[in-house]
Amino acid sequence: MRLLFLVFILLLFAPFGVSAAPTPIAAPISTAQFADVRPPVVTPQMLRYSRTRVALYFIGTAYSLLALWGVLASGLSARLGRWVRPQRFSFLRLLGYYALLELTLLAIRSPLIFYSGYSLEHAYGLSSQSFGAWLGDVGKSVAVNILTTTPVLWLLFWLMKRSPRRWSLWFWGALIPVIAFGLFASPVVIDPLFNKFTPLPPGPLRAQIQLLAANAGIPGAPILVADKSRQTHEINAYVTGIGTSARIVLWDTTIQRMPPDQILAIVGHEMGHYVLKHLLWGFALTVGGLLLLLPLAQIFLSWLLRRFGPRWQVTGPGDIAATPALLLTVSLFSFLLAPLSNGLSREIEHQADVYGLQVTRNPPAMARAFVSLSEQNLSDPDPPRFVKFWLLDHPALKDRIDFVLGRKSETGRE
Ligand SMILES: [Zn+2]
Repeated sequence: MRLLFLVFILLLFAPFGVSAAPTPIAAPISTAQFADVRPPVVTPQMLRYSRTRVALYFIGTAYSLLALWGVLASGLSARLGRWVRPQRFSFLRLLGYYALLELTLLAIRSPLIFYSGYSLEHAYGLSSQSFGAWLGDVGKSVAVNILTTTPVLWLLFWLMKRSPRRWSLWFWGALIPVIAFGLFASPVVIDPLFNKFTPLPPGPLRAQIQLLAANAGIPGAPILVADKSRQTHEINAYVTGIGTSARIVLWDTTIQRMPPDQILAIVGHEMGHYVLKHLLWGFALTVGGLLLLLPLAQIFLSWLLRRFGPRWQVTGPGDIAATPALLLTVSLFSFLLAPLSNGLSREIEHQADVYGLQVTRNPPAMARAFVSLSEQNLSDPDPPRFVKFWLLDHPALKDRIDFVLGRKSETGRE
């Protein structure tokens, strides 16, 4: 166990990519232009929205944990379990149980889901999606969740029955190909369920992005535009997929609202993730982290079920009625580990900024892109220190602007 811990620590502190300076795609910009960049305008509306989002994260987590506890303590999970309890454990029965459980949880959480996903976005002018279309998207996410989680649960319960003492280690081994397949398949199978992806029309922007892609070693990767304007007015771009599913995606909102040099700066950052193999690092960290966390989760779950199982009418970890206890363990662990995983993510994102800057050589454009991200997405550029620590998976936009313009990076508000 001590050896495993060492391996994990080594992974944590390993550099996230050794960046030999990339071949720039443009001549450097004169530093005189740096002075033109104005900081983001922080409006009371932006601060209110950002703070509401932070509050919703904590309230939503607590509410979800309580909902799971309620489903167990009320005996509802046991009743659902009895209703579909197998004589012979079968996939279809598990699917039936999990679908009923998810729909129950959805009903309990519906006020928060509606407020956070629909009402708030409309109140702040960040979305004009119709209620019906929004509801359709929620329905699709629930269906995707049920269809992708059930096989994983099935595998887990099977392992629990086969190896009551060591299931967490077997499950860890089984998860590795599952996670890898998810990374490969989600951009081709899941994402098209929610948006239409069309190739970026030929033009100067496309040519420059192709130059960046060639630099990043993925010259043939498709450059796609997602019709995100159906759902949101926010702007974004990302690189996703592995191997043949690798693709560069721009939200159509970004193309409508950002000048080409800023889009290029954002795509440069995204290419950084590719060149520096961040997906691989993320995968390795996840797998390494799970190796430590799954045995801890097993211990916690066993304790939880020994202590409360009789009251919940749940016989043990292998009982499908224990599913909410499993979900509760996962939610609790991910909430407590958020500062660690977000800290690692911020480091990775910073490395991508460094690469993007080296390859596009246009610091003012990148800084202006960050100003736009802050203003258009109503994202507080300099949130309180606690929010940065617990919630931010990217460095605060103010810190990113200061970094690309070579200013001293300040943290905190004071
Ligand atoms: Zn990034």
